[in-house]
Amino acid sequence: MAQVTPMMKQYLEIKAQYQDAFLFFRLGDFYELFQDDAVQASRELEITLTGRGQGETRIPMCGVPHHSADMYMTRLVEKGYKVAICEQVEDPETAKGVVKREVVKLLTPGTMMSDHFIQEKENNYLATIHECADGSYGVAFVDLSTGEGRVTITGDELEDAIQEIVTANSKEVIIASTADQALMNRLAEQKQLTISYEDEFDEQSDYASVYQHLKQDKLEKTYARLVQYLVRTQKRSLSHLQPVNYYASTSYLKMDQHTKRNLELTETLREKRKQGSLLSIIDHTVTAMGGRMLRQWTLRPLVNKQEIQSRQRAVESFLTHFFEREELRDELKAVYDLERLAARVAYGSVSPRELVQLKKSLQRVPAIVHLLSTMQADFAQDWFKELETFEGLATLLDTSLIEDAPISLKEGGIIQSGYSLELDKYRDASTNGKQWIAELEAKEREITGIRTLKVGYNRVFGYYIEITRANASSIPEGRYERKQTLTNAERFVTPELKEKEALILEANDQTEKLEYELFVQIREQVKQFVPELQSLASQMSELDVYASFATVSEQRTYVKPTFSETRRIQLLNNRHPVVETVIPRGQYVPNDVIMGDGRGMLLLTGPNMGGKSTYMRQLALTAVMAQIGCYVPADEAELPVFDQIFTRIGAADDLASGQSTFMVEMLETKHALTKATQDSLLLLDEIGRGTSTYDGMALAQAIMEFIHEHIQAKTMFSTHYHELTTMERSLQQLQNIHVSAAEQDGHVVFLHKVIDGPADRSYGIYVAELAGLPSMVTERAEMLLAELEGGQLETAAAKTDILDVQEPETEDKDEDLQLSLFAVEEVPKKPMSTVNKHQEALLKE
Ligand code: ADP
Repeated sequence: MAQVTPMMKQYLEIKAQYQDAFLFFRLGDFYELFQDDAVQASRELEITLTGRGQGETRIPMCGVPHHSADMYMTRLVEKGYKVAICEQVEDPETAKGVVKREVVKLLTPGTMMSDHFIQEKENNYLATIHECADGSYGVAFVDLSTGEGRVTITGDELEDAIQEIVTANSKEVIIASTADQALMNRLAEQKQLTISYEDEFDEQSDYASVYQHLKQDKLEKTYARLVQYLVRTQKRSLSHLQPVNYYASTSYLKMDQHTKRNLELTETLREKRKQGSLLSIIDHTVTAMGGRMLRQWTLRPLVNKQEIQSRQRAVESFLTHFFEREELRDELKAVYDLERLAARVAYGSVSPRELVQLKKSLQRVPAIVHLLSTMQADFAQDWFKELETFEGLATLLDTSLIEDAPISLKEGGIIQSGYSLELDKYRDASTNGKQWIAELEAKEREITGIRTLKVGYNRVFGYYIEITRANASSIPEGRYERKQTLTNAERFVTPELKEKEALILEANDQTEKLEYELFVQIREQVKQFVPELQSLASQMSELDVYASFATVSEQRTYVKPTFSETRRIQLLNNRHPVVETVIPRGQYVPNDVIMGDGRGMLLLTGPNMGGKSTYMRQLALTAVMAQIGCYVPADEAELPVFDQIFTRIGAADDLASGQSTFMVEMLETKHALTKATQDSLLLLDEIGRGTSTYDGMALAQAIMEFIHEHIQAKTMFSTHYHELTTMERSLQQLQNIHVSAAEQDGHVVFLHKVIDGPADRSYGIYVAELAGLPSMVTERAEMLLAELEGGQLETAAAKTDILDVQEPETEDKDEDLQLSLFAVEEVPKKPMSTVNKHQEALLKE
C-alpha cells in the first residue's frame, strides 16, 4: 500500500464499498476500471486491458469513453452484473489535490431504466423475499420504470416463495445477508437471477406512504426492504412509486414455472421467442403499456368468477361495438407509454420531447371518453364516468412547449413564444440584434463601396466585418478596429457591433437559462399529476387489452366460455390457438373435450405425431384463455374455474439444469401430486417414459390410481403403454380416448380426430419411415414387430399381471436391434385381441 498514489487510495476506498459491482471510475473523459474489475471487464466487453505503473506495482486497467459508456454498462448489466458509476463531484480546475469522487448511481438488472435495456412490452421486476418472524415468507415486486409494486405472503414453504419469484420472471432479488442458507442455495440455483443484499431498513422512511396502508407488519417489512434498496442504489427521487398492491397468491390460477414454459404462454420453449406463443396470438394491443398488462394477465389468470365475467362483459361490449372499438384503437395508437412517462416525470428525467408526447397522449383522452359514452354498454358507461380528461394539463403543455421540442434541456428551443413575457423580451432582443447585424452588411458596403464586404461570425471572435486584402486600401481611415489577419483578408469590428453582439449573446444566454427554468417549473407542475397519470395509464392499458381480446376473438371466431359449477368440461370443436394458425387454413381438425362425471380422467393413446400433445395443450390453453377473460377457440365452451394447472408435457430442455429428464419428470409429478386439488387440471404426457418399461408402467398405473382415489383433479394422461388402457375397467372415472389414424394403400393417414376408446396400433415404424430412417432398418423393424406380436399372442393369455404381458419374448435374443426399434417407438404394441385375452384373465382373477 505504501506506493499507492492518492488517487488510487481514493479508488480503493470507494471500491471497498462496492465489492459486488464493477466500479466505473471517472477520470476526465473516460471511465476507468482497475484490478480484477479491469481483467474481468476486458474479457466480458472485449476491450483492451492495459496497466498503470511499472513492474510489480503495475495495476491492470481498462477504460471506456464517457460518451459511449452507457452501452458498455448496459452490456454488463444484461449479463447479470452490477455497475457502480463513480463521478467527479467537484470541478477539477478548482479542486485542491485529488478531485472528489462519489458513486452517484448503482445500476443493477432489477433497477435498470435505460431504453436499450428495458423491453417495451415487458415489466422489469426487482423482487424480494423476506423471512418473517413467524416462519412465513413475504414476497414483493417493484418495477422501477413504472412505479408499480405488489406484495404477498406465500406461507411457510420456501418452494412457494421461490416459485413466486421465478414465475414473475424477475431479474434480481433482494434478501438479507443473514438469510437462511436454504433460501440462499435455492436462489443461487436460479442462474437468471442476480442476488443483492439489503440489511438495514427503516419502516418509517420517506417513502413509507407507499406501503403503510397495508397495515400488516410482515407486508410492510417486506416492501420496506425493497424501497430501501432503491433509495440506497438510485440516489434520486422515487416519488413515482405507486402505493403497493397486496395480492393473495390464491387470487390467481397457479402454474409453476415448468407449466408456464411448457404451455408456451409468453415465449416458445426452444427459441424463447414471443412469436409462436399464446401471447403472440392474443396480443393485438396497440400501446406498450397495454402489451405489458396483457403479458401480466396471461401469466396470472384469475380464479374469481365474478372478476373473470367482468372482463368478459368488457370484451363483449367491444365485440358488439365494432366501430367504437376500431376508433378506440386508433386513438390509443397515438397514446405513448403513459406509465413510463409518468415515472420519468417523477424521476426528474423526463425530456421536453417526452412532455410533448405526454401532451399528445392526453389530447386523445377526451375523444376516448366520448367514444365510451356513446357505447350502449354498462361497462363503458361505468368507465367513462371514471375517466378524467386532463384538459387543464394538456392545455398547459400545449401552450408552453414547442411542438418539436428537443431531447436536450440545455440548448433551448423548448418553450413557445407567448408563454412567458420575459422570455419573449429576451428573444426579441436577440432577434433585433441579429436583424441590425443582417442590415449592417448592406449599409457598410454602401459606405465603403466595397462590394465583397461581408459580416460573419465565429465562436472565438464573435461577429466581425471581413474585407479582402485586395480591397484593404478602400477602407475609410479609422472606421474599423482590426481584429484578425488572414492570408487573403482582414477582419474588423466596430464598438457598436461589439455592443450588439454582447446584447445578442446575453439575450441568448438568458433565453436558454430561462427556458430551462420554465421547463423545470412545468415539469414540477406535471409532477403533481403523477398518481392520476398512473391511474390513467392503467385504465388505458385495460381498454387496450379488452379491445385486443375482442379483436382476436372476432378474427379467429372464438366463443365466450361459461363456467361450470359442477366441474364439467364441455368444449365443442375446440382448437389449439397457436397450432391452428400455423398449419394451412382449414386443415386444423377441431376436437371436443368432454370431461365430467364418469370421465374425470382421460387416458389418451394413439400414434406419435397423431396430435396427442396438441390436444392436451389445447385444453390447458383454453382454460388459461378463459380465466384471463378472453374468449376461447371452440364452438361452445363450458369449463370449471381451475385453481391450478400442472403439466408434464414432453420437453427435453430441462437437461441444462443437470438433472436427468426422468428425475425432472418425477419431481414435477411429485409437485403435482402433492399440490393438486379436485379443482385442478393435470396434464401428464407420456407418464412413466424414460425408465424401463416395467418401471414406467408400474409408476404410471400407481400415479393414475393415486389421482383417482386421492385428488380427483381433472386429469388427462397420454401413454404409449397400451396395457394401461385396461385400467378403464377398474377406475370408475377413467375414460380411454385416442387420436385416430387410418391406413390407405399401405400409407398411414393421421386424422387428428380424437375419439373414445383405446388406440389399436401405434404406427411407430411408419413415423420412422416418415423421418427417413434407412429402409433396411424399418423393414427389419417390421419383421421384428411381427415376430414380437406373434410371440406375445401365444403367451399373453397365460399371464396374470398386467405388467407381465409386456415382456417381449425376444428381449435377450436380439438386443441391439431391439434398441434401435425402441428408439423410435418405445414399446411394440399388441393387437387388440391380446388385450382382450388379457382382460379376460384379469377378470377371472
Ligand atoms: P403427438 O403428441 O401425438 O406426437 P403432436 O400433438 O405433437 O403429436 O402433433 C403432431 C403434429 O400434428 C403437430 O405438429 C400438428 O402439425 C399436427 N396436428 C396435431 N393436432 C392436429 C389437429 N387437430 N389438426 C391438424 N393438425 C394437427
